[in-house]
Amino acid sequence: MKREFVIAGNWKMYKTGAEARELVLALAGSFAAVRGLTVVVFPPFTALESVRGLDPKVRIGAQNVFYEEQGAFTGEVAPRMLAGLAEYVLVGHSERRQVFHESDADVARKLRAALAAGLKPVLCLGETLPERESNATLSKVDGQLDAALAGVSGPEWGSVLVAYEPIWAIGTGRTATPQQAQEVHRHLRLRLEAMAPSRRVPILYGGSVKPENSLDLLSQEDIDGLLVGGASLKAESFSAIINSGSQLLRS
Ligand code: PEP
Repeated sequence: MKREFVIAGNWKMYKTGAEARELVLALAGSFAAVRGLTVVVFPPFTALESVRGLDPKVRIGAQNVFYEEQGAFTGEVAPRMLAGLAEYVLVGHSERRQVFHESDADVARKLRAALAAGLKPVLCLGETLPERESNATLSKVDGQLDAALAGVSGPEWGSVLVAYEPIWAIGTGRTATPQQAQEVHRHLRLRLEAMAPSRRVPILYGGSVKPENSLDLLSQEDIDGLLVGGASLKAESFSAIINSGSQLLRS
């Protein structure tokens, strides 16, 4: 019943170049290519060159990008600097929003700049625990979605991915239940369909995904993949998650 899955690993500020290379090679050896399955890893900037072109089964993304083309922006990386190094890029990850105070407007500019440079942005969004507890989840994700995607048009939609990541589930060991995730994904699906009729924008779930819950999450109708943090740092756990996707695609 399933069509396509994107299983992505966000390696955050872990892995040197050598460690990233070792992990990509171990991962590539741990799963078979299956039609409809895309595996992406997001190593730190400093490891992108080390994993370049290692194995076509493991696609590469960057964890962040700046929106200016060049200039006096110490510490930042321009979209065109990622050419040949990254196919995807995360924008609006909750750690960028919370720790580095990125606003919805910053996220929108980054997403636009990524698209203009031919990158595939993965727009991350999600609510805090107080927002969930006060029934503000859907209005929060709507605001983030609309702010980031307002300027996207035409064929650009084919390059956009969305990741629903409830902040209370990231790195906490507390996962949204498949039903909680599906409810928000369904809502996002309808909103995205209104923005981009005739496109199925992939909507990934992220937040304490592990081998024990990946199959149930991927079995939900509107979950098109997973964005995995902690469990993507080891080949064994990440490949078990990838293989739950392969299993559903084969069934
Ligand atoms: C993330 O960083 O996007 C994430 C979902 O992390 P974790 O899987 O560790 O909760």
